[in-house]
Amino acid sequence: MPTLLLLPGDGIGPEVMAATRRVIDFFNARGAGFELVEGLVGGAAYDALGTPFPDETVAKAEAADAILFGAVGGPQYDSLSYEMRPEAGLLGLRKHFDLFANIRPAICYPALADSSSLKREMVEGLDIVILRELTGGVYFGEPKTIEDIGNGQKRAIDTQVYDTFEIERIARAAFDLARARSGRVTSMEKRNVMKSGVLWREVVEQTHGQGYQDVKLDHMLADAGAMQLVRNPKQFDVIVTDNLFGDMLSDIAAELTGSLGMLPSASLGAVDPKTGRRRALYEPVHGSAPDIAGQGKANPIAMISSFAMALNYSFGMGTEAARIESAIAATLDKRIFTPDIAGGGPAVSTTEMTDAILAELELTE
Ligand code: NAD
Repeated sequence: MPTLLLLPGDGIGPEVMAATRRVIDFFNARGAGFELVEGLVGGAAYDALGTPFPDETVAKAEAADAILFGAVGGPQYDSLSYEMRPEAGLLGLRKHFDLFANIRPAICYPALADSSSLKREMVEGLDIVILRELTGGVYFGEPKTIEDIGNGQKRAIDTQVYDTFEIERIARAAFDLARARSGRVTSMEKRNVMKSGVLWREVVEQTHGQGYQDVKLDHMLADAGAMQLVRNPKQFDVIVTDNLFGDMLSDIAAELTGSLGMLPSASLGAVDPKTGRRRALYEPVHGSAPDIAGQGKANPIAMISSFAMALNYSFGMGTEAARIESAIAATLDKRIFTPDIAGGGPAVSTTEMTDAILAELELTE
């Protein structure tokens, strides 16, 4: 029986997770057989157990086939030390399972094309994927310090560092992903000013030559890529890039689709020799949205789509994943919107949006 660990976290995390649980229950009632286990992470774990990343959550995650993660964080935790902040729970999970490949699809549903900051014709039908390297680069490189250098001056150092194997495995993931789509990869780096960019391009090229010649590979400087993403986003299919650039480029892609509340993501690691499955964590791109938490305003679509990604990437249930995506599209076509995508017009609650998606799912039986 496949086991899913649910980590709702903080803010709107528990609200969107409760909505997603109803969708999981829908499939379980039809024989999917997911065993659901709940755990604590982030601020919720800190409040209950004094740490954002408890050992018991790690143990549950080890035993699960996939993790569904809500969101963590909140202003009440801002004064805590770095290790005790809610985000340490998420970073801890990524690091513990070496979840190096972060897949962020940016899909623009026709009903939402007017919510984008770009013109409808630029984004309508947009369907691209940003593949971000997640465990290396400048966010983790050492040294990482702020030092006193005298005369009232300080020096801050972050280190951008990539080894060949890290680039090679994310490049392979990009080519594999592209093969299941339209077969095009654009690799982005800054080889004009960064040594890590020089090596990035070299290794991506080499990996491409090792059995991936059927995939079309282009390279682009990351700043030019950012410009092209807002000028003509539909030119792309799969974009592969490092941790820092991926962080920024995927937020730009988020804006193209209308709302953060719509964007799912998957973080995949290596294949687990015991189960044959990739280690995987699925989560919405958005955070804990403290400004709307507890008000029933959260859009559950990013979290529900994250579950659809889990069906696709962890459980080989592509048909069921497609049913969820169609149910979401049909709901939006009926102009059923949560406040974040309603553009000031009539809006429904988190629960009503979930009711509508479940009703569409029932129609497809
Ligand atoms: P955020 O994503 O939480 O919110 C940004 C804006 O988008 C807010 O106005 C929010 O109301 C809106 N929004 C986000 N998700 C929404 C949804 N599902 N439905 C409707 N509206 C939605 O980002 P932030 O405000 O910068 O951060 C808030 C907290 O979340 C911080 O503590 C931050 O550290 C944390 N955070 C966590 C994660 C994560 O858990 N992966 C990611 C980003 C931020």
